[in-house]
Amino acid sequence: MATIGFIGIGNMGTGMARNLVGAGHEVTVFDLDAEKASGIEGAMVAASGEAAAAGRDIIITMLPAGPIVAKVYRDTIIPNAAPDTLFIDCSTIDVETARILAEEAHGAGFRMLDAPVSGGVAGADAGTLAFMVGGSAEGFAQAEPILGVMGAKVVHCGEAGAGQGIKICNNMMLAIQMISVAEGFALAEKLGLSPRSLFDVSSAASGQCWSLTTYCPMPGVGPQTSADKDYQPGFAAGLMHKDLGLAMEAASGVGADVAFGRAAYDVYERMVEAGDAGVDFSGVIRGKRGVS
Ligand code: NAD
Repeated sequence: MATIGFIGIGNMGTGMARNLVGAGHEVTVFDLDAEKASGIEGAMVAASGEAAAAGRDIIITMLPAGPIVAKVYRDTIIPNAAPDTLFIDCSTIDVETARILAEEAHGAGFRMLDAPVSGGVAGADAGTLAFMVGGSAEGFAQAEPILGVMGAKVVHCGEAGAGQGIKICNNMMLAIQMISVAEGFALAEKLGLSPRSLFDVSSAASGQCWSLTTYCPMPGVGPQTSADKDYQPGFAAGLMHKDLGLAMEAASGVGADVAFGRAAYDVYERMVEAGDAGVDFSGVIRGKRGVS
């Protein structure tokens, strides 16, 4: 069993840390919000990030954004970790920061993996996340059994930054598909057509995609989704906006043509500006249908 320092016990980190404790690992947690850190039964609560980082086999971070991850690594983790500690950052951050931090960790004698996730809070709680991992083959081999406790699928995507890269490509595809499904249902409705007919046909035809069959934004058709719960997240529009921003940043760095990704970014930006950052990302259909 491994000794694990876990920094960032928020919506995602809570379930992930609980599953590590449940698998018998010795987990020490830290969050700036002491109340969140104390909510993991069976884990030790560190008084500081330094204390959570010191003397562990593995340090996992699950933090809001790149600048916070960089600061925690530079100020807290790298200076205090024991030799041979493996670092795993599960936060969603930009590819560039992930690569730079891996280099800095490597320069200080450590292995570091970027291992962002897909699957949301429900996946974190159930231990069914998908991990997209960037870093060395040796680091991946060491991390795989630990990530397997928190996830149902663990994929080695390539060198440092590759996990973050795959994550933002996937989420850009998801955003475009969600908007396409929302526009399809809104158009059908305005044409006086039955949403159930559209679902029944498209879910078995060429318009089929995950945003339609598994996460349908139109309430009352298909499986129960966030749409049937007044668009409670799920996956909040604000987080989709963040991921699309990372995708746009990466695309402009390499000159990729992501015209539909850019349009999707603008759509979610408008949702956030309208005060709907906390609404599920499938709630984008409300604007298309003209309902609130
Ligand atoms: P969250 O805001 O609920 O949790 C982040 C936690 O980090 C908070 O508890 C906060 O107090 C803590 N924190 C912030 N700065 C800190 C510091 N310097 N030291 C220690 N703790 C600190 O966010 P979340 O929903 O758990 O998401 C975490 C990451 O996972 C994000 O990068 C997000 O993009 C990604 N993600 C989230 C989801 C989702 O559905 N929520 C899905 C996939 C990926």
